Amino acid sequence: MRILVTGGAGFLGSHLCDRLLGEGHEVICLDNFFTGRKANIAHLVGNPDFELVRHDVIDPFKFEVDQIYNLACPASPPHYQFNPIKTTKTSVMGAINCLGLAKRVKARVFQASTSEVYGDPTVHPQPESYWGNVNTIGLRSCYDEGKRCAETLFFDYYRENGVDIRVVRIFNTYGPRMHPNDGRVVSNFIVQALQGQDLTVYGDGSQTRSFCYVDDLIEGFLRLMAQDATVGPVNIGNPGEFTMLELAELTLKLVGGPSKIIHQPLPADDPKQRQPDITLAKKHLDWAPTVPLEEGLKRTIDYFRTQV
Ligand code: NAD
Ligand code: UDP
Repeated sequence: MRILVTGGAGFLGSHLCDRLLGEGHEVICLDNFFTGRKANIAHLVGNPDFELVRHDVIDPFKFEVDQIYNLACPASPPHYQFNPIKTTKTSVMGAINCLGLAKRVKARVFQASTSEVYGDPTVHPQPESYWGNVNTIGLRSCYDEGKRCAETLFFDYYRENGVDIRVVRIFNTYGPRMHPNDGRVVSNFIVQALQGQDLTVYGDGSQTRSFCYVDDLIEGFLRLMAQDATVGPVNIGNPGEFTMLELAELTLKLVGGPSKIIHQPLPADDPKQRQPDITLAKKHLDWAPTVPLEEGLKRTIDYFRTQV
């Protein structure tokens, strides 16, 4: 198949391009390089099945493709809050442009949605049936509401136009090719520890997240796209739940060195807890994560040793 990956030069997108090419597909990678890097896809340039297009998803695009994966959107809070209006436009206009193209060329289209649609959840762990607890006017809203609106658009195109959609709600994912200055917790802690700096735990560190290794996540993407019946939304994430203090301590244990843990103010609207209920992914996709946090962190640390 010929497959379009928006955001293909980013952390997740570049791993997805690798997997799709490995399975014998042609890949068109569309990216505006806001948070993506040429280094993530440099090894693919020159591959006759790989094409790179510098383009912004808020502007319409036309390609003759069989499938579309829509990943274009900054994912880390400092990046998506840098230009919040642009972030909402990217999610909403990007979804409209991908769906319009999918409708025209009859392509199956995938949306990278997020656990952020659950906001600061009052139901724990979070099943797909939970409607969420999102502040509509906070600093995170540009991302959360943009992604929620994108889901709405996907399901309206599905109901109104019969577009063949797949929607995944991604929980915190980590691994090689995260940007060293990305601002997300796993990359921050590893880079800080490798540089002998203190690890910045925001707040008291009792807030929790559930971390999925990138290879497990991409496997879940492909299984959902291969399915004829399930359109989603489907949670994909690792149910292993850790406090940020536990993550900092584990990172220090694995990296070693002189770093200590220090505390900085908790950002506004920071969700207190997050854990995916993956019953649907297990049932419909026969999917469950396979890489435990300690193993995935070791692989990620090895990558960052080559970067910092
Ligand atoms: P990333 O920032 O590494 O990648 C995003 C990519 O999209 C980058 O290459 C960036 O340059 C590109 N991009 C941003 N705005 C664009 C625009 N307007 N036009 C074209 N390209 C644009 O982030 P990631 O972690 O790889 O996330 C990929 C997708 O998965 C995002 O949609 C994100 O919301 C979603 N997601 C990721 C996580 C996670 O933990 N990594 C969790 C939930 C959802
Ligand atoms: N966090 C932290 N130190 C950092 C970066 C993040 O303690 O240097 C915390 C942050 O407050 C949040 C959690 O780690 O509670 C996950 O943050 P991240 O930005 O990785 O993802 P998200 O909040 O979007 O889940």
